[in-house]
Amino acid sequence: MEVEILEEKADSLRFILRDSSPAFANALRRGMLADVPVMAIEDVIFLENASVMYDEILAHRLGLVPLKTDLDAYVPREECDCKSDLGCAKCTASFVLEAEATDQTITVYSGDLKAATETVPTSDRIPVVKLAPGQKVKLEAYARLGRGSEHAKWQAASVAAYRYMPKVTLHDENLSNPEDVIKICPTRVFASDSTRKIFIKNELDCILCNACVEQAVPSDQKKGPPVEINGDDTTFLFNVESTGALPPKRIVREAGSLLIKRAEAMTALVDAEQKK
Ligand SMILES: [Zn+2]
Repeated sequence: MEVEILEEKADSLRFILRDSSPAFANALRRGMLADVPVMAIEDVIFLENASVMYDEILAHRLGLVPLKTDLDAYVPREECDCKSDLGCAKCTASFVLEAEATDQTITVYSGDLKAATETVPTSDRIPVVKLAPGQKVKLEAYARLGRGSEHAKWQAASVAAYRYMPKVTLHDENLSNPEDVIKICPTRVFASDSTRKIFIKNELDCILCNACVEQAVPSDQKKGPPVEINGDDTTFLFNVESTGALPPKRIVREAGSLLIKRAEAMTALVDAEQKK
């Protein structure tokens, strides 16, 4: 297998996976969405809630705030030796939130969560609740590691998708309507040069919709189709977007190492069975 990174930003990653299979690409995609652990608020203790929002709804909203996760600093609570309901420093990050509206309506934002550790919201501008004059909220919140398969608030990747690598073949000498083909393509794969000769400009942008194949009229029927589109099922174009909890590269790496761990566990089980 081979990986080529096309574009890397703080919260997104586009890469090509070569010499692989649809089964592996899909296992990787599912791993990124459902298995890579991140921190999210799970327990909230309300000391005071005079807002119009029920405790449960407010706790749910706090749970959905993405938190910057230092994966190396925490262990999953179920694996932690503290065995406590609210966890310890090794498995839990804590926050306090105290806000009160005095003479005018205020909005409480994610930035108002005061973190006791390095685990902080990915953005300070996520609205949590509005408070009218006289209303007050005072609470403690506890975050722990979890997985997307348990609840969407623990999903590390907001997008993890792939498509087959497009292969566009153009026989322009047999194409009678190049302008129509250029125009019909929704992702502008084709373009024409100064002599109005059609050429393939952005092959990677092809979404395999086949609109160009349907639009193309051959000048000679006997010579076969002027445009052909094929998807390569050994090469995949991946697009990964992070909620901000983890860098996108780390999400891919974690999903890969989880697959390795599972394969090793499976091998060990088979070996144990053989020895019986
Ligand atoms: Zn613990």
